[in-house]
Parts: sequence; structure tokens; C-alpha cells
Amino acid sequence: MSSAPHPFADDRHAKPWETVRRGLLMLVSSPGGAGKTSLSRRLVADFDGMTLSISATTRPPRPGEEEGREYFFKTRAEFEAMIEAGELLEWAEVNSHLYGTPKGPVMAALDAGRDVMFDIDWQGARQVAQQAPDDSVRIYILPPSWQDLSRRLHARAQDSEEVIRQRLALGRSEITHWDEYDYVIVNKDFDRAYADLIHIYRAERMKPGRNPWLPPFVQDLLTEGG
Ligand code: 5GP
Repeated sequence: MSSAPHPFADDRHAKPWETVRRGLLMLVSSPGGAGKTSLSRRLVADFDGMTLSISATTRPPRPGEEEGREYFFKTRAEFEAMIEAGELLEWAEVNSHLYGTPKGPVMAALDAGRDVMFDIDWQGARQVAQQAPDDSVRIYILPPSWQDLSRRLHARAQDSEEVIRQRLALGRSEITHWDEYDYVIVNKDFDRAYADLIHIYRAERMKPGRNPWLPPFVQDLLTEGG
């Protein structure tokens, strides 16, 4: 080994490729019911280095949703105060409700070298990608058919018929933005779609710019090789 001090030499046990990362922003969008929430939450559960961004919203909780787990539920006045105070990284109106990403937890995760997963609509994905183009990876999840999307929205039985109708209409306009994304996954089979999502994540993690430990590591290799 070279005797040059490695920038991360104080962490005696970890290999550089296990410690030094430049956080990645994974932005996952889809029409409601296409499986984006299950896919993104599964990736966060399976990868230690990833944090889920919990959004704030003025939408009322659905049955089974918990404060701080699915969302931070806010009144419109509270949400507007967050906008005023500059506490949101992005925000958008979706189906007459406001949704936004609290900035603090995202910054803290990135500072800690963690990756961040966002379950976010096309407007939010666009805003985040504009702010951090080099760190953002945008993934769009499509349903295999319209019938399948409608069936899934009915099957979860969380919304009234009227709300489902609105969500399907919203889905039509949401889908028109599919080509602004870096990757598109058709979620015909959950396991297959999830495997595709992992492939994307792993490949994106290996890009040189996301691994600041590489230049000193290669320098060490070259020094060693004389
Ligand atoms: P839902 O009400 O079904 O939970 O979410 C409706 C839409 O809002 C989904 O497309 C979801 O991805 C999006 N959404 C959730 N959180 C955010 C956010 O923080 N910002 C933006 N722009 N969209 C969000």
C-alpha cells in the first residue's frame, strides 16, 4: 500500500468504496396505481444507504396512512407557511392538493453520503432535476395497460368512485411526461419491475462522478504499480 494518507484513512475498517459517496437523487414518478410507491419503498427497505423523502401534503390521510410515515399531513395554511419559509425543495399542486418535499431531511441525508428516494409527480421531478442535474436520476413507471391501472386503483379500495375517476383522468396527463425521464419501467410483474429498478440504481451508483474516492484510489493503484 502507498504510504500517502488516504482521505478516509480514519475509518479503519471500511473500504473506500463502502464509505465515500456523493448522494444520488432517485426520482420515481408514475400515474397513481402503477406501483411506484411499492417499488420505491421496497428499494429503500432493501438498501441501507438510501433514505426515503417523506413529503408534506394538504391531502387528507387515506385509511391506514400515518403521520410521518406516508406523509406529513398539513393544512393549506401550514403548507403555505412552509413555502414562505423556504422549507421546501419543490412543491406542486396535484389533483387540488399541495404536495412538497421538505428540504432539511434531504440535505441531511446527502451530507451523510446517503442516497434519497423521491416518490414525486412529474412537476416535482422536473424541479429537483433542474436544481441538481448531475445528481438526479429520473425513473418513470408505466402500467402494462389502462385496464390494469383502473383495476389496481379499484382493488386498493382506498378511494371513492369519484376520486378514482379523477385519479385516472390525472393519470392521463401525468403519463404524457414519460419521455422527460432517464429510464422507463413497465410494471407488468412486480418482481421483474423491482429487479429493473435495482439494476438502474446499481448502475447509476457506479458512475465515476458519484464516487469521489475513485481518483485517490486510482492514484494509489498507480503508485503501487510503480
Ligand atoms: P397520492 O395522493 O396518490 O399519495 O399522490 C399523488 C401524487 O403526488 C403522486 O404522483 C405522488 O408521486 C405525488 N407526490 C407525492 N409527494 C410529492 C412531493 O413531495 N412533490 C410532488 N411534486 N409530488 C408529490
